[in-house]
Amino acid sequence: MKYNVIEKFLSVDGEGPTAGEIATFIRFGGCNLVCDWCDTSYSISRKVKGELLTKEEIYKYIKENGAENVTLTGGEPLIQDGIEELIYFLAEDSNLLIHIETNGSVPFYKFEKIKDLNNVSFIVDYKLPSSKMENNMHLKNFQILSSKDVCKFVIGTMEDLEKAKVILENYKLVEKCLVYFSPITTTIKPVEIVEFMKVNKLNGVRLQIQLHKIIWSPETRGV
Ligand code: SF4
Repeated sequence: MKYNVIEKFLSVDGEGPTAGEIATFIRFGGCNLVCDWCDTSYSISRKVKGELLTKEEIYKYIKENGAENVTLTGGEPLIQDGIEELIYFLAEDSNLLIHIETNGSVPFYKFEKIKDLNNVSFIVDYKLPSSKMENNMHLKNFQILSSKDVCKFVIGTMEDLEKAKVILENYKLVEKCLVYFSPITTTIKPVEIVEFMKVNKLNGVRLQIQLHKIIWSPETRGV
């Protein structure tokens, strides 16, 4: 089995619980959604061809980099052929902490056993109205998140904020997992999100500005 890896690099995690820590990124090509504000549009097409790597080659690259954090991203990692096999293989190394960045549309029931692995966690997006992909959300996923998982809302508008609040409350997300609000700073000011959080007393929700967009210019790839 070979995996279509369109980018691999050592950097710092830009978001989530290990933000600011070094991490190896493995980016797969192909996504089942087309978000209006996608910042990795080069990774969406299933036709995009990268390096075809075996799980052993991916593991070797990760170990050579020396970072304990590993972020599997895309595109959408969970639609890659054989992704379960790769995740199990990487998770056998208990020194690695594996984050799977997934877009919220792929049902988790296929990955129930992976959810139980101590060193694997899911960073799940809930796609809000400004993405134009909200209808694709697999809502059962948001019922079964646990304390090592993350739910991330990318916020582009006030309508997004209102909807995020509804989802937070309906699925009691703050009680289950870490919750982040991540602004699209070209369309909403972070201060507007802070005001909304204050007015609505959103305890347990964390505002997070993507580190990569502060450290590097937004167009820079492979960082
Ligand atoms: S799910 Fe992610 S990779 Fe896919 S279109 Fe949306 S933002 Fe881009």
